[in-house]
Amino acid sequence: MSRLLLLRQEGYDRHELDSATRKIFEAFDAPSFIRPGASVLLKVNLVAGHPPERRATTDPAVVRSVTERVLELGAHPVIADSPGIEPFRSVAEKSGLAAIARELGIPCLELTDSTPLPTTPDSAFKKVEVSRLVLESDVIINLPKMKTHGQMLLTLGVKNLFGCIVGQRKAEWHYNVGLDCNAFAGLLLELYLSIAPHLTIMDGVIGMDGTGPTSGNPYPFGLLAAAQDALALDFQLARMMGVRLEDFPLWRVAVARNLPQCELSSQVTGDFPQDHVFPGVKVPLLRGLNLLPRLPFKAFWDSLMASRPVHVPELCIDCGRCEAVCAAKALKHRNRRLTFDYTRCIRCYCCHEMCPVRAIEFRESFLMRLMRLLRGTRS
Ligand code: SF4
Ligand code: SF4
Repeated sequence: MSRLLLLRQEGYDRHELDSATRKIFEAFDAPSFIRPGASVLLKVNLVAGHPPERRATTDPAVVRSVTERVLELGAHPVIADSPGIEPFRSVAEKSGLAAIARELGIPCLELTDSTPLPTTPDSAFKKVEVSRLVLESDVIINLPKMKTHGQMLLTLGVKNLFGCIVGQRKAEWHYNVGLDCNAFAGLLLELYLSIAPHLTIMDGVIGMDGTGPTSGNPYPFGLLAAAQDALALDFQLARMMGVRLEDFPLWRVAVARNLPQCELSSQVTGDFPQDHVFPGVKVPLLRGLNLLPRLPFKAFWDSLMASRPVHVPELCIDCGRCEAVCAAKALKHRNRRLTFDYTRCIRCYCCHEMCPVRAIEFRESFLMRLMRLLRGTRS
């Protein structure tokens, strides 16, 4: 049975965070797997270069506290991630994590050197590569941010590991799996099962709802959550965020693989009530939800139902990141004008995710609006 620890954490006060991370390390007996001298990869969320107040990246206060716990055990922590398109140094500086690394005298590294990942026997994905550092670290501590996500509904512990894929190869994977978000969820699940982080500590102190993972609104969940089983933790948090699990692609692929986490039988401890549902969390329901898997010609229906990315020219700064990240080559930018080719667009929403100034929004399809009306779901 998986164990989850949910702790109240109203803000980023250093002493309170230290108390919380000590409880987490004790609850999961961290000294049993973080040995003196061990190399410990702290897989943070550095999706793009935003300040901590944007709530898109793992907060530096959480990273600092976890790093100090690792140092106390005599191990060698490294803060690392692979951002989508922006240069790593710029992202690390803007997020405040480079400063934390300097202060504590530890490396803050870009995940590079793409290397084949040994996958599970049941895997449909045989050619996945991740950064060599992920494979060579003795211990992986996963430090995600609790957020909503345009394509996958939520980005929590499992989705955070997608950053172990190096740079633009992430966009290539989006292109490879195409419109089918269940296939993408299958890839995420495979990454999680193969990388198998030793511990996940979720920064849900102030997360994000709305059009996440980079352009939503700060949401004060007031929660620091931890587990060795990130999948079980994700399902618990999804329910607390008010998401129907059938709408969560990760849940659907876990059910299809008959994984034990779908029994929802985790032992939950901590001072945060496990049956709490955060009020009014806005989840971007942009895709065809769980209706689609039961339909024939799923990709066709998905293309009709999925929301389209649209440009907001008055906000555009003409940086070109949207075009650079689009593996489907479905958009072009010129003189603050974007042209989308929706017949090529795979609705991965990477352009939205990488736009630094919220100049790409979504336009809901007629079918999606109709379905939402029938189901009475909110956007
Ligand atoms: S236009 Fe945007 S949503 Fe469409 S494929 Fe390109 S990056 Fe993905
Ligand atoms: S839409 Fe956003 S990402 Fe694209 S060029 Fe404009 S500012 Fe840059």
